[in-house]
Amino acid sequence: MINDKEYLELVKKLNKRSEEYYTLDKPTISDSEFDRLYKKLEEYENAFPLFISEDSPTQKVGSKILEKFEKAEHLSQMYSLDNVFDISELAEWIQKNGETDLYSDSKFDGVSLNLIYKNGELIQGITRGDGKIGEDVTQNAKVIKKIPLKIDYLENIEIRGEVVILKDDFKKLNEISEKQYSNPRNTSAGALRQLNPEITKKRNLTFIPYGIGENSLEFKAHSEIMNFLFSLGFIKTEFALTNKIDEVEKFYNHILETRSENQIELDGVVIKIDFLEKQAELGFGVKSPKWAIAFKFPAVEKKSKLLNIIWQVGRTGAVTPVAEIEPTEVGGVIVKRVTLHNFDEIERLGISIGSDITVVRRGDVIPKIISASKGGDKIRPPENCPVCQTPLLKDKTIINCQNLSCKAIAINSIEYFLKSMDIKGIGNRVVETLFENGILTNIEDVFSMSKHKILGLDGFQDKKTDNILDAIHKSIGNRELWRFITALGIYRIGEVNAKLIAKIFGTDFINKNLDDFLSLDGFGDEMANSIINFISANKEKIQRLLEIIKPIIDEVKDSSSPLFGKRVVITGTLNLPRKEFVKIIEGNGGFFTSAISKKTDILLVGVNGGSKLKKAESLGITILTEDEFLKNFLN
Ligand SMILES: [Zn+2]
Repeated sequence: MINDKEYLELVKKLNKRSEEYYTLDKPTISDSEFDRLYKKLEEYENAFPLFISEDSPTQKVGSKILEKFEKAEHLSQMYSLDNVFDISELAEWIQKNGETDLYSDSKFDGVSLNLIYKNGELIQGITRGDGKIGEDVTQNAKVIKKIPLKIDYLENIEIRGEVVILKDDFKKLNEISEKQYSNPRNTSAGALRQLNPEITKKRNLTFIPYGIGENSLEFKAHSEIMNFLFSLGFIKTEFALTNKIDEVEKFYNHILETRSENQIELDGVVIKIDFLEKQAELGFGVKSPKWAIAFKFPAVEKKSKLLNIIWQVGRTGAVTPVAEIEPTEVGGVIVKRVTLHNFDEIERLGISIGSDITVVRRGDVIPKIISASKGGDKIRPPENCPVCQTPLLKDKTIINCQNLSCKAIAINSIEYFLKSMDIKGIGNRVVETLFENGILTNIEDVFSMSKHKILGLDGFQDKKTDNILDAIHKSIGNRELWRFITALGIYRIGEVNAKLIAKIFGTDFINKNLDDFLSLDGFGDEMANSIINFISANKEKIQRLLEIIKPIIDEVKDSSSPLFGKRVVITGTLNLPRKEFVKIIEGNGGFFTSAISKKTDILLVGVNGGSKLKKAESLGITILTEDEFLKNFLN
C-alpha cells in the first residue's frame, strides 16, 4: 500500500496523464500502466476514505476508465430512416399518406444515442448498435453537453437524439490537438466510444433530441412530444408544422440556405407524420418507420470521363455493367469505378466509351453517374457470360448467366458464405485457386476440404493451409444461426431478416410454411415466397449444413405458447418494470410493439391506460391487466 505522500503524487500523475491523453493524443503513460496506477490509487482510497483528495480522478463525474463497453438492450427498437432525394419523390410519399399534418425538422449529421430515464434520473445511454442492442456508454453520455442528468418527469422514458460536435467546438478541437480531425461526424462517433469519459468530455459533444422510444406519455402528436422534450431542458431545434407540401419545401430550402451558418452539420430535413395515431396505423418496415422520411440535401457532383465498361457476374448470376472512369475525387473519396446496375441504365444515360460524365455522391451512398454526353459508339450488352462464355439469358432489364456451374457465380457465392459466416483469412485469390483445382466448388465443400489435397497446390505452404482449415473448423459450433441463414444468400433475406427468422423459428425454419413467414414482422409476400422457394429447392442441403455447422441457437421458442407470434402493446403504469414484460413476450415468441394498430393482438394495461386503452377498445383488441397477463403467460 502506498503512503499519503505517494498518494498525492499519484493523483497529480494521473491527472497529468488524462490531460496529455486528450490534448496530445500521445500520453506518456500507457493504458495498462495507467490502469495499474489507478488500481493502486483506489486501494489507498478504499482504505482511507477520509483522505480522498478532491482532485482525485475517482472524484470526477464518470471518470472510470472501462476495459470495454457492455452490450445493452434498447427498451424499444431504434430504426433508421428511408430517404428521398427530390421534391417529386417527397410529394409522392406525402400523397401516399393522405392529407395530414407534417412535422419537419433538420437532419443532424451525427451519431444516434438512446437515453433512458427512470424516476427522473438518467440511468443509461446506449448507442444505436443494430437497433435492438447497442453499447452502454452511460458514463460518456453524462459528460455530453445538453444531456440533463435529471429531468422533471418520473415515468420511464427513452429519449433519442443525435450526438454531434458543433462547428465552433470542432474548430477549437483542431486548434488544440496535434492530430487534425477532418470529419466532424466521425470525430463525434469516436468521442462517444471512448473508454475514458475524460476524453469524451474534452471533445465537447452536444446532444440534439429528435424523438422518444419507450414511454407512457399520452400526447397525440409528435410536435407535442418535442415541445415536452424542449421543456425538460433538451436543446430546442427549429421545426415546421404544416399540411402543405410547398410549406415543407419552403422549410427545406430555408434550412438548406442557412446550412453554412448553422452550428450543427446537417445533411437534410426529416419529415414526420405529426399525429401519433396515424403513425401507429402506418407502422414500421424492417428497418424504418413508414411515417417518417429523410429529404436529403443535394449531392456533390463531379465531372469525369467514361474509359470502359466491364461486365461483372454476381452470386445470383446477374450480369451488371460497371463503368471504369477517369479517377476523380467526389465528396472526399477517389472514385474509379461506378456500378451502372443494369443495361437499361446505359441506354437511359445514352453513355458510350469516351463520354463526358457527371458523377454524384450523396453522403455515404455509393457514387452514381447521373448524366453523360451523347454520341460515340453504342454500348451493346454481351451475348455470352464474360466468365464462362455460356450464352446469356436476357429478360427485360435483367441479363443472367444461367450456367449453375459458372465459375463467377460459384466463387461469389462461396465468398459471400465465408464473409457472412465470419470465417476470416480466406481471400478471393485463395477461393479462386481452390475452385480451379476442384477442391472448393460449392458451399458444402467448405467443410470437407482435406489438408493433403490443398498442400500440393502452388503457393499453399503448411502454415497457410493450417490457417485456412483452422479458421473453418473454429467456426463449427461457434456461429449464430442467423449468420448461417444470411450466408445462404437467399434473395431479399439479409442480416436483419435472418435474425428475425432465427429468433422466432430456430433451426425449425426449414419446416415453416408461407403463412408462418408472413406472420413475421415486416415480411411481405415477396420475402416470404423467396424463402419458401429457396427452402423447397435446397432443403436437404440446408439440413446437411446445419448438421455440420451446429450453429448457436437462441433458446427455441415454443410455438404452442399462447403468446407465439402475437403483437403486444403495453400502456399505463405497471408494478413490474416494463422490461420484464418485454422479456416474457419475446421469450414466448411474441412481438413487443410500441403503437396500437389493427394488427395488435393484446394490450397489456396498467394504471391510467389513457388513449391506447380507448383505441384498443374501439378496435376490439384483447385487453389484459397486469395480473391477468402474468397468470396467463408466466410459466
Ligand atoms: Zn457464367
